[in-house]
Amino acid sequence: MIDRNIIQEKLLEIQSNMTAAANKADRNPQSIRLMAVTKTKPAEVIQTLIDLGLKDIGENYPDETVEKKEVFASAPDDVSLHMIGHCQSRKVKIVADLFDTFQSLDRLDIGLKLNQVLLERQKTMPVFLEMNTSEEISKNGWILNGDQVSDGFLQDLDRLQRCLQLEINGLMTLPPFTEKAEENRRYFAAMRAVMDELNARYGTQLKELSMGTSIDYRVAIEEGATYVRIGTSLVGPRN
Ligand SMILES: *Cc1c(COP(=O)(O)O)cnc(C)c1O
Repeated sequence: MIDRNIIQEKLLEIQSNMTAAANKADRNPQSIRLMAVTKTKPAEVIQTLIDLGLKDIGENYPDETVEKKEVFASAPDDVSLHMIGHCQSRKVKIVADLFDTFQSLDRLDIGLKLNQVLLERQKTMPVFLEMNTSEEISKNGWILNGDQVSDGFLQDLDRLQRCLQLEINGLMTLPPFTEKAEENRRYFAAMRAVMDELNARYGTQLKELSMGTSIDYRVAIEEGATYVRIGTSLVGPRN
């Protein structure tokens, strides 16, 4: 049973926390979008979120999203579906065909492949570059050392900037899991600094920072997030 009232209650609470965090940081609350993360959740949950007015839905596993594609096909035009998970090369076509943005572009070859598929489809797609702020090699994305990117990242960026079907709009990160949101503040601040630096020196026009989950979205907003990605606090623990 999907309890719409419970989800609505949580939604209102999250929205009011988002507004408070924005106000605290002197930011316009309208400039921050709440993405509902629905991996492992059935289509009925997604439908409920859409009925409640959610405009941004995030999914991690392309095959799972395909199974739920009807709910996205019947959603209003202003509802966006965001890919936020690690994408295997053979799933790139699904991303190109089903999703509105690719927020988890985490390596060069996947960007090149997506560009090629999009070219065949004669379309473009907004992408965010995923940065690894967790200091764990096992995590996805280009490694950030403090607020420094690597030379390898800059070389990859240069190649990606030549991919005309990719609109490189933002940066995304998933910092280490912690119970203490404050511990992640420095990673969020570093993301903001990197975005400004890339725009000033490397010809990008990044506008979006996708960062902050159930635990730390308030801190992420204080540090400049334009998308927060919330699963557990909104739709409960994953199955
Ligand atoms: C699952 C997931 C989230 C949501 O995390 P919660 O802690 O459930 O809010 C956000 N971002 C990414 C990339 C995820 O994989």
